[in-house]
Amino acid sequence: QVKGVTQRVHSPDQSRNDPLEDDVQAFLIDEDQLHTFDDLTKVNPVTPATVLKCLQARYSLKVFYTHAGCTLVALNPFQAIPDLYSVDVMKEYHYATQPQEFKPHIFIVAEEAYRNVQGQLEPVNQSLVVSGESGAGKTWTSRCLMKYYATVAASAQAVSSQDAVERIERRVLDSNPLMEAFGNACTLRNNNSSRFGKYIQLQMNRAQLLVGASVQTYLLEKTRVACQPANERNFHIFYQMMKGATDEQRTDWKMPQDQCFVWLPNCENQIEEDGFLETAEAMVHLGIDAERQRQIFRVLAGILQLGNVSFCSSTNESQPCDLDQVSEGTGELLGVPAEELCRCLRVRTLKAGKQNVLKPCSQAECGVRRDCLAKVIYGQLFEWLVTFINSCICADQSKWCNFIGVLDVYGFECFQINNLEQLCINYANEKLQQHFVAHYLRAQQEEYVSEGLEWSFIKYQDNQSCLDLLEGSPISVFSLLNEESRLNRASDSTALRGRLEKELGGNDNICWDKFSKVPHFTVAHYAGKVSYQLEGMVEKNKDPVPPELIGLLEKSDNLLLHEIFSDKETEIPHSKGLSRVTVISKFKNSLENLMKLLLTTAPHYTRCIKPNSDCRPLTFKNREVILQLEACGIVETIHISAAGFPIRCSFPPHTLVVRYFSKDELTPKLLPGVCRCDVSTQSDLSNSSQLDLLEDHRGKILSRCAFTIQCCWLRH
Ligand code: ATP
Ligand code: MG
Repeated sequence: QVKGVTQRVHSPDQSRNDPLEDDVQAFLIDEDQLHTFDDLTKVNPVTPATVLKCLQARYSLKVFYTHAGCTLVALNPFQAIPDLYSVDVMKEYHYATQPQEFKPHIFIVAEEAYRNVQGQLEPVNQSLVVSGESGAGKTWTSRCLMKYYATVAASAQAVSSQDAVERIERRVLDSNPLMEAFGNACTLRNNNSSRFGKYIQLQMNRAQLLVGASVQTYLLEKTRVACQPANERNFHIFYQMMKGATDEQRTDWKMPQDQCFVWLPNCENQIEEDGFLETAEAMVHLGIDAERQRQIFRVLAGILQLGNVSFCSSTNESQPCDLDQVSEGTGELLGVPAEELCRCLRVRTLKAGKQNVLKPCSQAECGVRRDCLAKVIYGQLFEWLVTFINSCICADQSKWCNFIGVLDVYGFECFQINNLEQLCINYANEKLQQHFVAHYLRAQQEEYVSEGLEWSFIKYQDNQSCLDLLEGSPISVFSLLNEESRLNRASDSTALRGRLEKELGGNDNICWDKFSKVPHFTVAHYAGKVSYQLEGMVEKNKDPVPPELIGLLEKSDNLLLHEIFSDKETEIPHSKGLSRVTVISKFKNSLENLMKLLLTTAPHYTRCIKPNSDCRPLTFKNREVILQLEACGIVETIHISAAGFPIRCSFPPHTLVVRYFSKDELTPKLLPGVCRCDVSTQSDLSNSSQLDLLEDHRGKILSRCAFTIQCCWLRH
């Protein structure tokens, strides 16, 4: 944690009743046995209190994984647990006949997806959706999953080969430290917080070997490069360079040891590992040669130097601002003439008919242009890196037939000040929650109804109305923000607030604090209410880049920058065109594609829980955990899972769905097993006169589908 940080923004409401106390009487099970519940569906009764107690009991015994029906709950230990993720443990789960019978573990989820990916009839792509708030352990979990597949799905040759450097498994794993160096940063909530979302598809061939991968990233928080929230840090890579460079590199990057950089706050806290070597090694393994590396690091050093450029205010509006601080090396590192760089930062070129008119920028405008330049360079460099990684880990289409996708996106965020970034992140979480609800909760209940099962509906929170508010048509928060962003004028946040209220005031998911002087709107998300400040939101949504700056970078001597910016397909919104792509529209689009892709896969959910907000090892704070359990609707999930049937299989031709009617209970139960029984049609079994026939068949079914039946008996 960064020194001196005491502020906790997502602090739980202390005034609420303690659900533990409320419910403790209802606890029917022996408390000494609490830790033995591997699956929360077996806890009786299922209430937030019982679930919490069970998780707490397990956590205190260092048991970090617990099933919650279809979901795996993963509690963050905040300390390395020896042997929990070793190759031997991976193999135990991998070679087990019934891994489900082993202790809950992320490897059960991994193995289940691995076995299902071949499907009974045809390959079924799988998605492992890892969710949770910042610091809960999503990225850690994703890394574990990737290591699992790189181990169990490695070709025999890879396992025996000493020369593993060349192997695809190694390259896929190496993409992690590289992307984390460029896309992660130390924040108040997590020392290694991912500032981008990621969906990685692990490509499998017919023999179920890992033959490649491809990564899709979402919304890098590139504003961090030029503006770090108080007590937070810039992206890791800058600190790694500062700490790990050799003397020779320092000279080349114009980065003497004693130089201070405005954009490198909290440098004195050496919290990160010596990541530089790992990053540089990963670059080598992925085929980024020494010259390319030099180009990358010089661009990064140029960005840091750019942060030290500042401007004096000009008394004469027709004169450009003077440079207060000039960093001589900036132009050289970025491969552009220093004077031209200064001119582009201080003077705007306006089109007046066929003529160009030069207009000096104010001090504030100069600062905005400088930040803009840094953001566009860093954002495009990150995209280039992802494309490069893909080019060296992605297998040829003919070599793979199905994939296992791992989704690690930022969790729900609620800070004291929230802006466009949080709006997009929380929108993404709404979409994922909807996917979960649609896939699991709603689909399961609807299926029971269609199967004619007696079923008392469990209420769950459907977030459709919140999504309508955010993205619906014709009018929504997004459409209004986009409309405003496309107008060629400075945005007035008070007027915008009025417009939102007028157009969307009828939606229950939006409200306003009547006494607040700051223009804002508050959205009731499924995970809680968040107030978004309107000041600056439209500008962020436009994310404009002055065309002069792009023109400058196109001409850069740095071959990498030149390549990135002279590529005409690069989609950089700049202030020339008014029909520009906004941040929201781009993000919404990429998220919609992700959702479409997820819908074609069989999902597996892992909910990571952060047991305390101080990231302290083995510390379990009831109130913090319960808020997270509530936010992800875990109790509803358990209710549905507990009341439902644990296993569902597709039925190959000539097999039947067998209904078994329990003798002492009139409730019909669907036995979700695949049973090749002698009854010729399903209708033979569908009326109660067939009960006896079914009883006759029971023994037969038991012998053939022992596992499935066992599960059913357990349910009884
Ligand atoms: P963000 O949304 O900010 O990216 P995250 O959910 O990805 O957060 P991680 O970075 O995965 O969070 O985890 C935070 C820290 O918690 C890790 O750096 C690690 O120290 C610790 N951690 C998480 N899971 C485990 C685990 N299973 N065992 C040991 N430590 C863990
Ligand atoms: Mg992360």
